[in-house]
Amino acid sequence: MNLGLHDKVIIVTGGAKGIGEAISKLIAEEGGIVVIAGRNAADNNKTVDEIVKTGGRAFAITAELGKVEDCKKVIALTVDQYGKIDGLVNNAGANDGVGLENGSPEKFMTSLQNNLSHYYNLAHYALPYLKETRGNIVNIGSKVADTGQGNTSGYAASKGAINALTREWAVEMLPYAIRVNTVIPAEVWTPLYETWINSLPNPKEKLAAIVKHIPLEKRMTTAEEIGNMTVFLLSPKSSHTTGQIVYVDGGYTHLDRSVN
Ligand code: NAP
Repeated sequence: MNLGLHDKVIIVTGGAKGIGEAISKLIAEEGGIVVIAGRNAADNNKTVDEIVKTGGRAFAITAELGKVEDCKKVIALTVDQYGKIDGLVNNAGANDGVGLENGSPEKFMTSLQNNLSHYYNLAHYALPYLKETRGNIVNIGSKVADTGQGNTSGYAASKGAINALTREWAVEMLPYAIRVNTVIPAEVWTPLYETWINSLPNPKEKLAAIVKHIPLEKRMTTAEEIGNMTVFLLSPKSSHTTGQIVYVDGGYTHLDRSVN
C-alpha cells in the first residue's frame, strides 16, 4: 500500500533507537524525509547512515529534549533545512523508576521534564508549521498509564498525561484539521526494555513470566509493529482518525491474561 508519505518531513524524537528507529526506517521506506531528534549524536548518525545507505532520506539533530531551548532548536533546524513540517512523532522517553517511596519531589519533576514536557514543547513550537501543511501528531504512550507498574510515578504520570493531551489537542486542533493520535506499546524488546528488565532481580524468569501473559501468540510486540501503526496514523490513509489511543500490545492491556 502506498501510504502517501512521499516527501513528507516528519520529526521522530528518540528516532535512532528501539521503537523510534523502527518508525524512522518505515517513514524513510515510504519515501518520507525523517528528522531524528535525540541526545546521542553517534546513535543518530548511525541510523541516518543506515537509512541513507538503503536509498532513504534522513537528517539528525542532537537534542536533550528535557531542555526547552533544545526543543525550539529541533523545530528551527528542521524548518531551516526543509522549509516545512508535515508530522511530529513524540516518542522519546524512559521508564526511569522514580517511585512514590524511593523518589523525591525534585526527581519527580525531572522525570516529567524528560518524559512529558517535550511532547508539549515540540508540538507547541511545531504548530505554526503543522497548520500550514495540515500535518499531524502521533504520540507514543505506554500501558503503564492504564495498568500502573509500581515504583515509576514520574513515568506513569507522564504517560497518563499524554493520553489526556491526545484528546485535548485533538479537540483544539479541529479548526486546523491537524489530527492527533497515540500508540500504546506494552512489551516491546528495545534497548530501553533490555536495560529495565536487567535492572530487576532474576531478569530471565521475569521476562518469561511477562511473555507468558501476552495473550496474542505469547510473544513480545516488535518495534516494527508499533512503527507500522504509527506510519498508518501519520498517513492520509487514516484521514478521519483523530483523538484515538491505539493499543498495539497483543491484547496485553485489555484482554483476560489468564487465558492460555
Ligand atoms: P529506547 O530503546 O531507549 O529508545 C529511546 C530513544 O530516545 C533513545 O535513543 C534515547 O536516548 C532517546 N531519548 C530518550 N529520552 C530522551 C531525551 N529526554 N532527550 C533526547 N533523547 C531521548 O526506548 P524505547 O523502548 O524504544 O521507547 C520508546 C518509547 O516507547 C518511549 O516513550 C517509551 O516510554 C515507550 N514504551 C516502550 C515500551 C517498551 O516495551 N519498549 C513499552 C511502553 C512504552 P538514550 O539512548 O541516550 O537514552
